[in-house]
Order: sequence, then C-alpha cells, then structure tokens
Amino acid sequence: MIVNLGSVALDTTETPFKSVSRLVGGSGTYSSIAASFFAESGLIGIIGDDFPEEYINLFREKLDLAGLVIGEGKSFHFVSSFGYDLGARTTIATELNVFGDWDPIVPEEYRNAEFLYLGNVGPHQQLSVLEQVDRPRLTVADTIEYWINTDRAGLIEVISRVNGMVLNDNEVRQLCQTSNLIMGAKEILDWGPRFVIVKKGEHGAILFTRKKIFPTCGYPLEKIRDPTGAGDCFAGGFMGHLARSGSLNEPAMREAVVYGNVMGSFAVEEFSINRFIPLTIKDIERRYNFYKSMVSF
Ligand code: AMP
Repeated sequence: MIVNLGSVALDTTETPFKSVSRLVGGSGTYSSIAASFFAESGLIGIIGDDFPEEYINLFREKLDLAGLVIGEGKSFHFVSSFGYDLGARTTIATELNVFGDWDPIVPEEYRNAEFLYLGNVGPHQQLSVLEQVDRPRLTVADTIEYWINTDRAGLIEVISRVNGMVLNDNEVRQLCQTSNLIMGAKEILDWGPRFVIVKKGEHGAILFTRKKIFPTCGYPLEKIRDPTGAGDCFAGGFMGHLARSGSLNEPAMREAVVYGNVMGSFAVEEFSINRFIPLTIKDIERRYNFYKSMVSF
C-alpha cells in the first residue's frame, strides 16, 4: 500500500482563460488519486465540515480513507493564479483553517506501510507521520513555497530523514538560494536523501543521485487548462510505479520518473481532479509507451 500524507483542499484558481472557485484539490488528494491507478492508495488528511459530500464520494471510489478526518471548522482553502504561459504560479491566499493545527494520526493499519509519501503539509506534520510509520521501504517528501518561507529549518530536518525529495525548480532556487538547479540539487543531497527529483513543469523533471543525473522531458501537450497538482500527480505516478514493480533499482526509478511525467500531464488537462475520473490504466500505459518511443534514438 502507498500511504499519502497531504493537504485536502478547496482550490480557487485563476487562469487567463478560465477561473474556478473552491474545486477539490490539495497535495494529498492529487498524489493519492494518481497513485491509486497503480496500487492500493491511502490518504491521511483533514477536511472541514464544509467539505462537499460529492468529493468524499469520489474519494471513496479510488482511495482507502482510514486516515481522513473531518475537523470542526472550514476546509483548507488555497487561492492562486497563473499567467498567460500557465508556467509560474502566484499564491494569493493560503487559508489553512482546520489544517493549521492538525496533528495527523496514522491509523493502525497504515503503520507498516512500505511506501510513504509526505506531501506538502507543515514540516512538523511530515515529521510526526514519519515517526508513526515503522520502517517503510521508501519515503519521499515534497514541499511548497509557503513552508520554505515559514519553517525552513523544519523542512531541512524532514529532508535529512527521507529517502527522496521531490521539489519544483523554483522551490529548489528558493530553498537553496541559488539560481542553478544542479548546485541546488547537490546541496539537497548533502542534507541526506539518496535522491532528489527536480520538477520543471511542462519541461519535465530531473532525477539526481550522488552518482547520476537522469533528465527527462515533459509529455508534449497542446491543451493545458490548469497546472495545479501536476507535481503531486507526478509524485503519485512515481510512487505508484515503484510500489507496483516492487523494485527500487535504477531502471525502476527511471521508469517511475517517466510515469511521474505521464501522470502530471493528465493532471493539467483539466481543472481539479476531473481528468482522473474517466482515466484508466490503459490510457496511462498508452501515453507511457508513446513517450518511450518519442525519446528513443
Ligand atoms: P502542486 O501544484 O503540485 O505544487 O500542488 C498544488 C496543491 O497544493 C494545491 O491543490 C493546493 O491546495 C496545495 N497547497 C498549496 N499551498 C499549500 C500549503 N501551504 N500546504 C499544503 N498544501 C498546499
């Protein structure tokens, strides 16, 4: 099983083409749903008592919800906007609400999970969950601008204790105070993890270990609606493929990065999680195979 810790949000997103208000989002939502196509996927998260029932019903179809709690108060609300190129995000509001002082509890049945993904919640929440799971085979974490600004030291502690870190290019620049991604990735590796993946939006992702670099391109898309959640779906595809293959060797890691790109590409084709509702594993494999033939030479 893949256990996903992450935010479960209502997202308000503005793009030059369309804006949407309070649609389901959050790092935990995206990563757990993307992972669910590959293996059993559980979600540890908190929602408020205003969270629409229809979204909970959607979750029930794809996820194990033993770790999802309903707090008293409002759900986490994230407001952001994208410019014409749909590249860089501007955060307009981060209203933590019930998620702010949440103490995540790992349900008994998740404590021996082999695959643990710590999505972009507070570093203290990531550490608490890490401590409640007994010796997972693979632990991977992500973060977001807000946590780099508010708890950089806590985040570095998380990074020192996980096997792998996934971050986007701007987060690496901000966290490591360098304009160069290679230098940034090396610094993060020096803090302890075995690998770092730097996500570069539509331009793909780069896997760094101490010995090797594996750069990959993004899946070429003509229609992008909303980049929100691409990074979390990348992580869900990455963890999902590794859990399904059972191997953590280098070829499996490389394949997993490509599955990450593929799942990220589906996420951005629609707002919220809408693209995943009709999606099947066949669609995923078709895109993966196309990607593979595209980059072979
Ligand atoms: P991504 O686009 O993959 O980087 O992640 C976007 C998701 O992260 C959105 O659906 C947001 O609801 C969620 N998010 C944004 N800011 C935060 C935050 N400070 N803590 C937790 N989740 C967040």
